[in-house]
Amino acid sequence: AAARPFNFSAGPAALPLPVLERAAAEMTDWQGSGMSVMEMSHRGPEFQSIIRKAEGDLRQLQGLPEDFAILFMQGGALAENAIVPLNLAHKGRVDVLVTGSWSAKSANEAARYADVQRVVDTQPGGYLDIPPASTWALRSDVDYVHLCSNETIDGVEFAELPDLQTLGCQAPLVVDCSSNQLSRPFDWSRVGLAFGGAQKNIGPAGLTLVYVRRELLRSPLPACPTAFSFETVAREGSMFNTPPTYAIYLAGLVFEWALGFEYAGLRGLAALEAQNRDKAALLYGFLDRSALFFNPVRPDVRSRMNVPFFLRESGLTDTFLAQAGAAGLLQLKGHKSKGGCRASLYNAMPLAGVQALVDFMQDFERRHG
Ligand code: PMP
Repeated sequence: AAARPFNFSAGPAALPLPVLERAAAEMTDWQGSGMSVMEMSHRGPEFQSIIRKAEGDLRQLQGLPEDFAILFMQGGALAENAIVPLNLAHKGRVDVLVTGSWSAKSANEAARYADVQRVVDTQPGGYLDIPPASTWALRSDVDYVHLCSNETIDGVEFAELPDLQTLGCQAPLVVDCSSNQLSRPFDWSRVGLAFGGAQKNIGPAGLTLVYVRRELLRSPLPACPTAFSFETVAREGSMFNTPPTYAIYLAGLVFEWALGFEYAGLRGLAALEAQNRDKAALLYGFLDRSALFFNPVRPDVRSRMNVPFFLRESGLTDTFLAQAGAAGLLQLKGHKSKGGCRASLYNAMPLAGVQALVDFMQDFERRHG
């Protein structure tokens, strides 16, 4: 196939071309079954083989221990902001680390179901930093502590997940990992539950991944819809209701691609992480040297996945975006709440795409400097 433009969308985001080509080839007849995956019963043997392979491959990719269940759900990450407290907030107390726009939304939604304490709130500083864990005043008696491992809009990422136990907190850690799941390994020993929409590193929108420690599975609060009970969904193998079958199939193709991904002598998630590290270093390195472009986030919490950047001459932003688009560098417009630009560098973005972006920015700066 002809080379496609480089697509920097924050999500729904670019998918690996071999995955799209395989899905296209199998679109009308999946492996001689005479059916599109879209046309299959979710309980039939064909789809059962698809979902169980996807689940196994995802577990293997992330080294996810067997004491976690993987749930394929719907509603996206914003629905999880309610579903999680409806399942876990039995005492009605939740601590939230607000380090960006998405965790702020999580805190607001959880506050409909529980007493929420914002242990950290970096909004006054513009979400540019994460205060050190030693300063967090976590409560000892909460149902869980919520954080967003990567703030997609603000470009702020936890370099590693905190170990709540060493902070004197026995509550489970809940992680919104929508925009950095599968970009790097997580230390699952520190996690109670993680969730994320699929539409960044995993597949098309409409599928939500939930990784939940089996010991946390119990009856939800009475107000919780049965279809959103983690206990029920886990017991039914994500088949309590009809799961988003085609999105699961596509995610499975992405997992296969990721398992075989090679970079710098590495394979699988380690290879993806190495490429993600190199991509981010290339772009931040340029931004920090540039006289025109800049990223305002404190270096040790900068996101590898989402790089917001701004032009010191903000009047040039629209010109930059238009010319970038014409040069085959798509969807670089910043989130509407921030303005400026944002380059999302998910797994499907090769290093060559980031090099092309940096070359273009360098050239733009020369022409307008
Ligand atoms: N959390 C994070 C970190 C996100 O990036 C997003 C989507 N960009 C959401 C939550 C909301 O996801 P959804 O629209 O799938 O509900």
